[in-house]
Amino acid sequence: MIMSKKERKVVVIGAGRVGTSYIYALMHTGLAAEIVLIDLDPRRVAGEIMDLSHGLPFVPPVNIRAGDYSDCSDAHLIVITAGAKQTPHQSRLDLVQNNAKIVKSICSSIKPGYTSAIIIMVTNPVDILTYVALKHLGCPPNRILGSGTVLDTARLKYILSLHCGLDTHNIHAYVLGEHGDSEVVAWSLAHIAGVPLTDYCALCRGCDSKEAHEDITQSVRDSAYHIVDYKGSTYYAIGLSLTRISAAILRDEHSVLTVSTLLQGQYHIEDICLSVPCVVGADGIERIITAPLSDCEQTALESSAGILKKTLSSISS
Ligand code: NAD
Repeated sequence: MIMSKKERKVVVIGAGRVGTSYIYALMHTGLAAEIVLIDLDPRRVAGEIMDLSHGLPFVPPVNIRAGDYSDCSDAHLIVITAGAKQTPHQSRLDLVQNNAKIVKSICSSIKPGYTSAIIIMVTNPVDILTYVALKHLGCPPNRILGSGTVLDTARLKYILSLHCGLDTHNIHAYVLGEHGDSEVVAWSLAHIAGVPLTDYCALCRGCDSKEAHEDITQSVRDSAYHIVDYKGSTYYAIGLSLTRISAAILRDEHSVLTVSTLLQGQYHIEDICLSVPCVVGADGIERIITAPLSDCEQTALESSAGILKKTLSSISS
């Protein structure tokens, strides 16, 4: 069911490259009736609002304006993109101390007026900060999700589509675990036209599938490092990934997306946020799908969870 116009209010916290690329993508869809932008830097917000608003004659009707934390009380969706980004040779986990402080202060500002908005965490390290926001706000775990490996899954589909010479839309595959260096490509779940990828590769005979899978895994994992090295930061594809997640929520789509969520025993993992296939709709995470992984994928997922837990325990309170 599509929400009423009144309900489709989206608050974006963080007017940087990611927040504004998301707004730019979202405003083309007609999904939001109102988009409100918040940032520490009011001049930056004013400039971004002017620039985005000048495009309104070309897109479906939407009100885009500057706001403050009181706007969160009747928002349906709050998207947190504020914080430091990676510099070359810095991992996402290296951002944790600084960005945990920023996310805690943002959550303290949201909390007094918080009612029931779904919150999408984007700031890195996204899995850790999804957990931090969840604990800080104390709301039900289904209402806070991280963009997780939705972007990494898109990168995997794109790279596989080039490799196989197929439309990206015909590639069905998932990246699970940390949005970062310990992420796991679930090759055992990948399929094309209903044919498991390993069987498809055997039919195709175009490559050594084991070697190809290792190269593709590496390319997906290193994508952000290359982009940061070439142009400073990544923002267009995350803007589109966030628009995809927003559509699932605002249109109550029940879409399967690899968002970051609190695991409470699923996949034998407890009390940490990471990405697994989830059903996403108007209430946020509706269901976690426990997909059958191969033994080595399961081990890699548990190891990813271990790395995230170790990083989480390093955050100073
Ligand atoms: P940016 O430097 O362009 O913008 C960051 C913005 O945050 C700035 O406008 C800054 O003023 C604002 N900000 C900082 N502290 C704030 C606070 N306390 N309250 C309000 N605003 C505050 O950075 P960016 O390229 O937009 O990246 C933002 C974050 O998104 C980074 O942490 C980056 O690593 C992350 N990111 C995540 C993904 C993902 O897949 N999850 C992908 C790309 C980037």
